[in-house]
Amino acid sequence: MVKPLQRRMARICAVALISALTIAVVSCERRPGEPVSRSEMWLGTVTSVVIHDSRFPSDVLDRVFHRVEEIQWRMTINEPDSEVSLVNAAAGENPVRVSPDTFEVIEMSIEYARRTNGAFDPTIGPLVKLWNIGSADERIPTESEIEDVLPRIDYTLIELNRDTFEVYLPVPGMVLDLGGIAKGYAVDEAARILLDAGIQHALVDFGGDVYTIGTRPDGNRWRIGIQDPVNTARGRFVGIVEQTGRSVVSSGDYERFFVEDGVRYHHILDPDTGHPTRNGLVSVTIQAPAAMTSDAVSTGAFVMGLEAGMALVESLPDTEGVFVTDDKEVHLSSGLDGSFRLVEAGGFRLQE
Ligand code: AMP
Ligand code: MG
Repeated sequence: MVKPLQRRMARICAVALISALTIAVVSCERRPGEPVSRSEMWLGTVTSVVIHDSRFPSDVLDRVFHRVEEIQWRMTINEPDSEVSLVNAAAGENPVRVSPDTFEVIEMSIEYARRTNGAFDPTIGPLVKLWNIGSADERIPTESEIEDVLPRIDYTLIELNRDTFEVYLPVPGMVLDLGGIAKGYAVDEAARILLDAGIQHALVDFGGDVYTIGTRPDGNRWRIGIQDPVNTARGRFVGIVEQTGRSVVSSGDYERFFVEDGVRYHHILDPDTGHPTRNGLVSVTIQAPAAMTSDAVSTGAFVMGLEAGMALVESLPDTEGVFVTDDKEVHLSSGLDGSFRLVEAGGFRLQE
């Protein structure tokens, strides 16, 4: 029975695929309980989607990944022709018109820069280039090199024109870097496409920026592991958060770093000091309705530190946080009760 059924389903899917070229509404049947997944490399990481619904439009994964590709080519600073690279190349010279997408992400990045008092700053680019953490050219810059770029790191200088979608960086050498927020935007866009297609049970995971659509197929909440930032072996977790229909994103000093003379130099830079943030935190995980919020706030709160970062999280509606310190304390925001479970084996201690 199994083989003919598989063949029939293959035929249904093939027909659906062909008709997708001509009509929009097609669907692919799957046996219940058999998830469909796809992973591709975008945004410098593994981007994956797992759909647990038994019926869904057969082209939905193509649409998701096409969108992610589009976001990458618009917002990356690793390609000279991306919209953000063109804005950077015109710093001090002229405004550059960008797509509504890029404009929205820049606008939101400024909003989160305001809310984090500049701890999250999308004009961090010159510092990121100076340290080059995670690339073959990574190195510790001199203090005078750092002092030289610090005046150009100031999100309040960015000029936006909402009527023309133009962005202007008025100081030569200013560099926008949306690396702390764009992945979250891509996750939200992927989730939007899946939700618009009527999908009820799915998981979007772009290198640890996660959005859970609906419940698990069995009706229970999704369980998302928070990476152990101290012992970073895959599959080792500080704890598990349970959630439905929202995002969860972590920022940590274990994600990209190099070690010199026993000191860890990591990729989350403090715009005040010009150095990798060192304040006793090793990771911050944020849970919020939108992944763009979780992404920007996790990076920003990491720079702000435990006290100010937690105060920010408590002030944002429907937003929760898990802060982990280098001495293995785990601090939870007030609304996480009942949806966080510590993994005992890691040696972490929950603080009341
Ligand atoms: P995330 O992994 O989301 O915490 O973002 C880290 C990335 O954001 C870095 O690789 C940089 O590209 C960028 N970044 C580093 N420090 C900051 C900062 N203080 N504010 C905004 N973006 C930052
Ligand atoms: Mg981030």
